[in-house]
Amino acid sequence: MSAPAPSSSRVSARIGGITPSATLAVDAKARELKAQGRPVIGFGAGQPDFPTPDNVLEAAEAAVRDRGNHGYTAAGGLPELREAIAAKTVRDSGFDVGHQDPGRVLVTNGGKQAVYSAFATLLDPGDEVLLPAPYWTTYPESIVLAGGVPVQVTADETTGYLVTVEQLEAARTPRTKVLLFVSPSNPTGAVYPREQVEAIGRWAHENGLWVITDEIYEHLVYDGAEAPSMPVVVPELADRTVVLNGVAKTYSMTGWRVGWLIGPQDVVKAATAYQSHLCGNVSNVAQRAALAAVSGPLDAVFAMRSAFDTRRKRALSLLSAIPGVEIPVPLGAFYLYPSMKALLGKEIRGERPADTVALADLILREAEVAVVPGEAFGTPGYFRISYALAEDDLVEGITRMADLLAEAR
Ligand code: PMP
Repeated sequence: MSAPAPSSSRVSARIGGITPSATLAVDAKARELKAQGRPVIGFGAGQPDFPTPDNVLEAAEAAVRDRGNHGYTAAGGLPELREAIAAKTVRDSGFDVGHQDPGRVLVTNGGKQAVYSAFATLLDPGDEVLLPAPYWTTYPESIVLAGGVPVQVTADETTGYLVTVEQLEAARTPRTKVLLFVSPSNPTGAVYPREQVEAIGRWAHENGLWVITDEIYEHLVYDGAEAPSMPVVVPELADRTVVLNGVAKTYSMTGWRVGWLIGPQDVVKAATAYQSHLCGNVSNVAQRAALAAVSGPLDAVFAMRSAFDTRRKRALSLLSAIPGVEIPVPLGAFYLYPSMKALLGKEIRGERPADTVALADLILREAEVAVVPGEAFGTPGYFRISYALAEDDLVEGITRMADLLAEAR
């Protein structure tokens, strides 16, 4: 018998099945229009609009000149950085993996790679992941690429986009291996109160589930909210928890591409072996910059937080005043997630947008304002609006959108 012929498709089914990031697509479309001279205001950004702090730049400058940074280094990350990440984690969330135990930290090429590596390391084909929605677009794609099956558990504006233990339990099957948890959340800005983190953590532990908890927005919380770390609230869970984080949002370092995962020894060892073949070490200069960031002060993020808070309140009051728009108060990150359902099917400038993709397209054409439709986050009927932009632009953009939507009949 001859071996089966290779598939004739040019791109593999696995890679061909990926949907390109919708948030990056909206950003690109807005940028394209801007380049043509259009006064587009983009609410698509997933990054702080502040400069990377000076102490980080200085460390990077020195690192460039140091020849010790010009060659390959350990795939898992510079030992000093892994230790500093362990120390920073105790300082910021109270999760203690031991300063002398950097073997529980893997430095990755951005938080994004930590997301994918965590799933790739934990999932076998067919393993199910409970994925609270609205979800960040990268999660389901990473789960599928890793051979897993995302099982969406949807929460809406009536519960502030927080899923309950009852909902999770209803979605659990004998194939469920992992729960993905993120608080503060992208795209909703929702923050889980401590009791709910505890209830979900206990339930996960009782059912032998793994938890991948994404803490990248840990410092961006408002109105006195706190975002406790699940393995700190439920310590029994630590042996089955992978914590994801990075420097992108806290230190305004999205382009530097440094993130990490923290987990049990065996998981981190396996994820490190994988990374050693995938890409080797993360850029040493970027790691040195990240080292200065995580071992330095948090002043920059606190200043950003205060600016974000002002904008959050402003944007919230302007958006809630638009007839038909429903929006719970977001307590974290830098996103608002209004429901636009009441406006769908209404006539605006001769069109009747039936879904939020069509409504977002109309708003981009007619008001020159770019928003990301909820379809990108598993929940049609909503918009994600980032307030990581100058306050004047924020007000101008929402006002233009409000004026257009006021025409809805
Ligand atoms: N997690 C969440 C929830 C995010 O929103 C992002 C950035 N959009 C990341 C992880 C990854 O960030 P980065 O790859 O830039 O470190």
